[in-house]
Amino acid sequence: MKPDMNRRDFLKLAGMLPLGLLGSKVNKSLKLQSDKKNVIIVVFDAFSAYNMSLYGYARETTPNISKLAERAIVYHNHHAGSNFTTSGTASILTGTLPWTHRALQPNGTVSEDFIDRNIFSVFNEYYRISYSHNEWVNTFFNQFSRHIDEWVPKDDLFLPSSDALMQKIFKNDKDVSSVSWVRNVKINEEGQAYSLFLSRIISFIESSYLSRYRSQYPRGLPTARADNGFILSDAIDWLAQRMTAIQKPMFGYFHFLPPHDPYRPERKFAGHFRNDGYQPLNKPRDLFTNEEVDLFFHRTNYDEFVLNVDYEFGRLFEFMESSGLLENTLLVLTSDHGEMFERGIKGHMTNALYQPVINVPLLIFDPAVNARVDIYDTTSMVDLLPTVANWAGIKIPDWSSGILLPPYRQSSNESERSIFSVRSHDTAHNDLLKMASTTVIKGHYKLHYYFGYSELGGKDLVKLYDVKNDPEEMNDLSQLEMDIANEMLGELKTKLEEVNKPYTGS
Ligand SMILES: [Zn+2]
Repeated sequence: MKPDMNRRDFLKLAGMLPLGLLGSKVNKSLKLQSDKKNVIIVVFDAFSAYNMSLYGYARETTPNISKLAERAIVYHNHHAGSNFTTSGTASILTGTLPWTHRALQPNGTVSEDFIDRNIFSVFNEYYRISYSHNEWVNTFFNQFSRHIDEWVPKDDLFLPSSDALMQKIFKNDKDVSSVSWVRNVKINEEGQAYSLFLSRIISFIESSYLSRYRSQYPRGLPTARADNGFILSDAIDWLAQRMTAIQKPMFGYFHFLPPHDPYRPERKFAGHFRNDGYQPLNKPRDLFTNEEVDLFFHRTNYDEFVLNVDYEFGRLFEFMESSGLLENTLLVLTSDHGEMFERGIKGHMTNALYQPVINVPLLIFDPAVNARVDIYDTTSMVDLLPTVANWAGIKIPDWSSGILLPPYRQSSNESERSIFSVRSHDTAHNDLLKMASTTVIKGHYKLHYYFGYSELGGKDLVKLYDVKNDPEEMNDLSQLEMDIANEMLGELKTKLEEVNKPYTGS
């Protein structure tokens, strides 16, 4: 064994290296097996449009995406279905809002109606592949599995634990593998293992590769909860190689955890925005203020993780372009929800629905579009499914609540359309929305409507903002423009009545 075994060597030894990375070169003469083109959706979790320089954020967090946007359709006012993963992602995958798909609770599932009605079932003539770092999204893949040709296991793109590693290395050796390796290899409570030799190899491997990673990640490895961590650049390498190798046409949905917390960028991005003089707008504390934390500190770490995501997306794009894939592919970049660092609220596990948690990036790279197209219409995530289906020549399913995104539809009467976002975090599958956060955006205005929360003491909370002229949501107009507030509230309540109807038990 080489003393300076690198990551690739280690992964090869561990049998963890995806096949595509074992020295195969990109096939430049990639041929489609039909005249259909590929559709690839890349989701970065908790990626707020607010913190992207592409959309005007003062810190230059997205230099690569901004450059690539010169060839994209750029949506400036795109809204997630909710403000957290389960409800937000299900809106991407079903083209419906949370009060319809019913994945309302953390790690919840969509209603039975959508098991055969989802973005994977729509692309049934494609090779459908999915991956997510986020377990809650894998819950949906499990529900939709009969419509997914290749559901890549979450752990494939995480660093292996020593247990998993040993099972891989010794999978053909029953004496050492799985059951007995613990007593052979792991140091037991008395500080001894049966095989000191193997123990030393394993601890050498672990310390060698983990210390190498640690030096690359000054704030620690990115993780999803208590796992061993993952390397975003490896995930992007894997994706690039896998996309070239698999059957075409393909439909891919890839959901990567960054810039979700913990905010742990690679060394070259960590510290990038420290002491840069940036001063966020001071906003009043909110009713749903959830923790006493240093918001500026976390915002800066998040912005640096966004910079890391931007770099990796740039690499993916470059690969897709140089390999020729892009010529035959509709590439979508978006997020399941945003993140916020204001009003005493950090992150997205909040009942509040301010723009930073629901306004998400959406860029569509269409091989037929060579110049930047800016879309300022207010759009919803439920529109993505019908739009990509239509692009692929598939009939738009009648069960989606969305409509075609501009410029694929002629934008007309846009100010008449209502865009909703919903969070009802404690509502069971078959229950009414008794406690919820909702917003409706129509024309210039955005109405927030919160009800059922103990913080409200039995009352409802309504706020109205002119988000066109006051995008930071600083001036609540609900008392000044009561007619507009009442009209929008009436519409929201009618909608709630309609979606609650199947669950009223009458
Ligand atoms: Zn998420």
